Amino acid sequence: MKHYDVAVIGGGHAGVEAAAAAARMGSSVILVTMRQSDIGALSCNPAIGGLGKGHLVREIDALDGVMSRLADRAGIQFRLLNRRKGPAVRGPRAQMDRRRYREASWDAMRTYRGVDIVFGTVTDLLQVNGRVQGIRLDEGQEINCAATILTTGTFLNATIHIGDVSRSAGRWGDGASTGLADALHRLSLPLGRLKTGTPPRLDGATIDWAALEMQPGDADPSLFSYLSTGPEMPQISCGITHTNEVTHQIIRDNLARSAMYGGHIAGRGPRYCPSIEDKIVRFADKTSHQIFLEPEGVDETSVYPNGISTSLPEDVQDEYVRSIRGLEQVRILQPGYAVEYDYVDPTCLDNSLAVRSVPGLFLAGQINGTTGYEEAAAQGLVAGINAAIGAAGKAPTFFSRSESYIGVMIDDLVTHGVSEPYRMFTSRAEFRLTLRADNADQRLTPFGITLGCVGDARRDAFEKRQLAYVEARAKAEMTLMTPSELNRLGIQVRKDGKARSVFALLGLQEMDDIEVQSKIPLLTSISDDTLAQLRNDALYDQYTDRQDRDVAALKQHENLLLPQDMDFLSLGGLSGELSRKLDERRPKNLAEAAKIEGMTPAALTLLIASVRFGQ
Ligand code: FAD
Repeated sequence: MKHYDVAVIGGGHAGVEAAAAAARMGSSVILVTMRQSDIGALSCNPAIGGLGKGHLVREIDALDGVMSRLADRAGIQFRLLNRRKGPAVRGPRAQMDRRRYREASWDAMRTYRGVDIVFGTVTDLLQVNGRVQGIRLDEGQEINCAATILTTGTFLNATIHIGDVSRSAGRWGDGASTGLADALHRLSLPLGRLKTGTPPRLDGATIDWAALEMQPGDADPSLFSYLSTGPEMPQISCGITHTNEVTHQIIRDNLARSAMYGGHIAGRGPRYCPSIEDKIVRFADKTSHQIFLEPEGVDETSVYPNGISTSLPEDVQDEYVRSIRGLEQVRILQPGYAVEYDYVDPTCLDNSLAVRSVPGLFLAGQINGTTGYEEAAAQGLVAGINAAIGAAGKAPTFFSRSESYIGVMIDDLVTHGVSEPYRMFTSRAEFRLTLRADNADQRLTPFGITLGCVGDARRDAFEKRQLAYVEARAKAEMTLMTPSELNRLGIQVRKDGKARSVFALLGLQEMDDIEVQSKIPLLTSISDDTLAQLRNDALYDQYTDRQDRDVAALKQHENLLLPQDMDFLSLGGLSGELSRKLDERRPKNLAEAAKIEGMTPAALTLLIASVRFGQ
């Protein structure tokens, strides 16, 4: 029997990142997945990043992961979301050339040092004295390993639904993973059922693009990797169109035929990413919904209509899609569908993503109740690092909430579990002023270097960037400008007669980078990259003290009692979702409220104010 330190089952985003991380840590790794085309498959939206998700990709990059560089290689439209808001909540996002992403992933993984790849289906886990020490493939082959990571995505006992037609499959054109689901039952892991959906794919040659508003990417693309220098692919624009009252009527008339509303699906789907039939029912007063028409590649005819995922029958999909401007003559290449699958309740895991009751077994990705490529990849990275550490007989490592979105996500999962597919949002992080996408390397690369998951090229690039930053910051902090100098240069500050350091002036948002550099000579020798970093740090320097105080206040009020008759539903400032959850669960004190899934620091502060001051 062959032996590896770490076996990774599944070559999706979690599996790729897990295998690569374990190998960087020095483990011998076998990655078993059903087919070569699994590696780098973007099953749904051909896009990486976004709000919260972009932060995760930058953190993966800071730890020398692969997703960020693959996304930069395959990106065909880069946009920094929330550009008008503060840097802390800006999210880099890019649309991918689906084929290029897959090719780049395969290229990266087939040559990844320390990783062997086998195509096949794992049907069982081999245990010795309760510890998982190997895997069995469908043709009977057995592989021995010290640690095993399951990253089987939506495949466990999966069923796909289109209207009232259902069949066993984890994804369009794939099979399901039933043998492994049985193995998890035998291990008595707590399983639940979730669902997600995808829209029909459209033939771009049959879209009337001239009738549509077009949206280009950013002129100055924000890449994901600190090591990338620029996009490699030609850049494209997306089309924008809208549903209308006719579309909504067609959907309303056929609701009972949708898999979801026809009662064929029991699993819960993501409420923040509703299907088009959900939108029509839940937001009945809206007469239109926006749709982005995203080409799936530069040489691809297939277009992804973002915003109309569905489980309606194919004839209804045809009819409603054609009622939309620009899509009157459209041809559907692949129908939309919903997929229902088993997930493992992640509260059975510890913060290293190890299953507490089954030594040697780690879980990462959608199997843990999350949704999204980035969430999957980030978990894969953590499981890969810890499986390698475990295989070497050392103590696990954890990511803290105060240092990374990765830490926030894992803590949320293992502490609260999920009641719907979990997706990252910036609002989930209580320390979001310091957990920015732009400073992911400062927060995590040193930790990665210590752990051993960061290679030489990354370490050298980081140290060079960091040196430039530290020198520039020291100069900026030490150089003081007097009120008369400020006045002469026309820099507006509070008239308190005090000198200001250049660093403090960098936090003034009224001046753009060009103005700042032209008025403060010290800054002309600083690179754009370092200047941007300094400006973001200077801006948040003023607020991080307050953030620290808020966190301390939350800790201090953990035992604050919440009145049993508290009217959460009419408490202003809370999201509808949180009001409902609070109303249903009726937490006794603030500590219990804090444990509710999706609870935010801002909402907790509101509860404190409401109890203490009756606001
Ligand atoms: P996957 O990418 O699913 O990879 C799992 C891999 O495991 C597959 O390659 C499979 O072949 C392999 N595998 C499974 N069982 C075995 C076995 N027994 N042996 C060997 N290999 C095995 N995300 C969003 O963010 N938004 C969405 O709207 C969205 N909609 C989606 C709609 C659909 C229909 C699907 C299928 C997915 C959707 N996703 C969406 C989710 C996104 O695709 C996943 O979150 C992400 O790909 C999960 O990554 P993963 O690595 O956990 O699993």
